[in-house]
Amino acid sequence: MKFSEMPYTRPDTDKIRAQYDELISRFKNAGSADEQIKIMSEEETLRNHFFTEATLVSIRNSVNTKDEFYDKENEFIDEHSPFVSEKIQEFTDALLASKFRPELEKHYGKLLFKNYEIAARCFDPKIIPLMQEENKLVSAYQKLYGSAIVDFDGKKLPLPMLAPYKESKDRDIRRAAFEADGKFFDEHREEFDDLFDKLVKIRTKIAHELGYKNFIQLGYDRLGRNCYGPEQVAKFREAIAKDAVPVVGEVKELQRKRIGVDTLMLYDNGFTFSDGTAVPEGTAEDILAAGKTMYHGLSPETAEFIDFMYDNELLDVLSKEGKAPGGYCTFIPDYKSPFIFSNFNGTAGDVDVLTHEAGHAFQAYRAAKLGIMSDLSSPTMETCECHSMSMEFLTSDYHHLFFGKNTAKYELSHAEDALCFIPYGCMVDEFQHRMYENPDLTPAERNEIWASLEKKYRPYLHTEGLPFYGRGAGWQRQLHIYMYPLYYIDYCMAQTVAFQFWLAYMENKEDAWKRYLEFTDKAGTKTFEEVVSEAGLFLPYGEGGMKKICESVGNWIKAHQI
Ligand SMILES: [Zn+2]
Repeated sequence: MKFSEMPYTRPDTDKIRAQYDELISRFKNAGSADEQIKIMSEEETLRNHFFTEATLVSIRNSVNTKDEFYDKENEFIDEHSPFVSEKIQEFTDALLASKFRPELEKHYGKLLFKNYEIAARCFDPKIIPLMQEENKLVSAYQKLYGSAIVDFDGKKLPLPMLAPYKESKDRDIRRAAFEADGKFFDEHREEFDDLFDKLVKIRTKIAHELGYKNFIQLGYDRLGRNCYGPEQVAKFREAIAKDAVPVVGEVKELQRKRIGVDTLMLYDNGFTFSDGTAVPEGTAEDILAAGKTMYHGLSPETAEFIDFMYDNELLDVLSKEGKAPGGYCTFIPDYKSPFIFSNFNGTAGDVDVLTHEAGHAFQAYRAAKLGIMSDLSSPTMETCECHSMSMEFLTSDYHHLFFGKNTAKYELSHAEDALCFIPYGCMVDEFQHRMYENPDLTPAERNEIWASLEKKYRPYLHTEGLPFYGRGAGWQRQLHIYMYPLYYIDYCMAQTVAFQFWLAYMENKEDAWKRYLEFTDKAGTKTFEEVVSEAGLFLPYGEGGMKKICESVGNWIKAHQI
């Protein structure tokens, strides 16, 4: 069904709650596993229908924030969905306590129940006030960051508007742009320090209340991580520090020479070509048309997928008045339809929508087509990023459709950015582990740790003489550290998987695609560890793989300098 034709009626949440009560009572009194399985599928239908209505509202609200009808509906959903969530949790609790659990596990697989158990560990009604406090602090950070207006270039600019200046061809302008945002953070130093201190302490308190030693394992559980823990992640980071950092150092040295600077300063880091980065050729419509040609060329599965997306109006990517900023990919369960939302702006980011976001959408489309139950249709987040980040590389034969004569430049910066990101992501992750292991550090001690991690993970980069960054406080502008604790390493681990699919693709396209499709089609029915191993790939925290991968990618980069 076309998106515009999908009907919406405001969900009757009282009725849904009553239906849940009925399902829960029938589930508890069921006389056989078969009966419970039938009730579980009824519950899935009920929940999918509610999520369908809620998703239609949130998409239509973001596509046109000025539409009063959906604005009101959005408020209604925000206000009432916690009451439905409460019932969903109650149903899950009944499921975990089922006397037919062994039979249910046999039917659905053990992983589903493991996932429910992990989610249940993270919550207890007694922590609700603490969680509200945590949410308040996160909102305060967002507000403080979002309120920033700096005087620059004769204008009053919000921080994101400094981005083009930070990549200016004029080094003085780049430096001035970094100084401008650094100055803002310096002026609000105490507030940023205080918010983080409170967040670390409240999260630690929540962890203690729930019986955890500190926040770290709770953070992993909140992310639903079901196959690795902090030790494995530490092992991955150490492999990156030892084996990736030297390769990144060489790549950065090539960049330094290419842009002609004596020392690579923080404000040179994102400036990769003296004549600017590659941008797509043609209009937004040309980009969309190229996307279609690309997925038709790649495989029959992607051809079917992209036709479904285009024919059913499941992409809304053109910038227009009243549209919310940013981008996302979501899923409308009743219509088995992914939906991609974005705001094209003429940069390479527009192409990422068709490679990265479409990679997420492709996986959701496949899982629905294969009839995988909702709670197993999507894996943990590092695995989701494998789907999308790998698609960025598996489509590389078609990137020329977007970039024309600039394709080689795009390919080079894509590979460089991907590789150089990994140590930075590990630094963000190690910093957070250190913070939650030692919740009582002072602001100065926190900055010292960040500065020492800069030396470990980005020794090629200099921040001397810059406000804010120079005193080791640069972590405060990485919003994940405040808002999504311990979620970041997912991108790093996924990148190493995406590299392996890319390297495999360069050797044997057909075989790489086949492995990718199998990997993707397992959706959430297997753990990250299982899907990676079954695809014949190295685990990020396994033995010896990272050195080989980073060196291969480093060699490709060195051979493709322009
Ligand atoms: Zn993604």
